[in-house]
Amino acid sequence: MSRFSELKHAASGKRRLKDLLLQSDNRFCADCGAPDPKWASANIGVFICLKCCGVHRSLGTHISKVLSVTLDEWSDDEIDSMTEVGGNSSANAIYEAFLPEGVSKPGPDSSHEERMRFIRSKYELQEFLKPSLRITSGKTSSSSLKSSFSTKLFDSFRIPSVSKNSEGMVEFIGLVKVKVKKGTNLAIRDMLSSDPYVVLTLGKQTVQTTVMKSNLNPVWNEELMLSVPQDFGPIKLSVFDHDTFSADDIMGEAEIDIQPLITSAMAFGDPEMFGNMQIGKWLKSHDNALVVDSIINIVDGKVMQEISLKLQNVECGELEVELEWMPLDQ
Ligand SMILES: [Zn+2]
Repeated sequence: MSRFSELKHAASGKRRLKDLLLQSDNRFCADCGAPDPKWASANIGVFICLKCCGVHRSLGTHISKVLSVTLDEWSDDEIDSMTEVGGNSSANAIYEAFLPEGVSKPGPDSSHEERMRFIRSKYELQEFLKPSLRITSGKTSSSSLKSSFSTKLFDSFRIPSVSKNSEGMVEFIGLVKVKVKKGTNLAIRDMLSSDPYVVLTLGKQTVQTTVMKSNLNPVWNEELMLSVPQDFGPIKLSVFDHDTFSADDIMGEAEIDIQPLITSAMAFGDPEMFGNMQIGKWLKSHDNALVVDSIINIVDGKVMQEISLKLQNVECGELEVELEWMPLDQ
């Protein structure tokens, strides 16, 4: 494609998106009804306001992949999937088809908690879908729910960005992409094995991997994204055994200190200016869960950290994760 037709093509994509946004049902947030939404969930196909966008983002990109209508670059596929859904009315006709009596939608001024409760029920738990479409187990950790949203998304994993002049929203300094690689020698919680999955929490955000059936040495290689607020603490990691008939059992936990990663990344600035090299270290000590010192490297212009964790408060089990730091103002 010539540069000119490339530009023309990009312009027509932007145009289609803008036309869709101007459609009357898309002039209001699909979740709270606030006027003039400037954000969208590209995989779900709804236009949403800044406040609801914050909640969507906290669900993780496997549930909702948020993009700014004005600030982000959209791929053709993303625009196609928005136009296929056809806007907020048709999306809500599906996702709110069976809104039970007594459940009311949040309004533009609803609290974060109210918004969170509704948006999770609507998209993550899919509680208001036509009963035949609902996920049978009703558990958020079920892998069937994940796959219904995510197949397309994992291929096009992309950095969600935050509006720099965002009002009334937590200011994020960047994102940590956590690749949950594998577990080794995990604890047995059922008769002979366990169905493990990993939950990561940072601030108010929680993301989780899929469930691995009967596997004490699971290989996930799943990437999960967390936004890092200015006053960040450690990432809390927990492993659970998925149990269909009772509450899920804990299979150990660990904390990941992300301070060394962020400090060394900031000290070096733009990693693309440097060749592959070690830039920092998180040291193993008696009060952290590290199996060995964890090295922070620049690898092909990215700031990466390999971490081996010995799970705590459990009889056995280790977990390998890899972090990538992505500052927001790049
Ligand atoms: Zn909203």
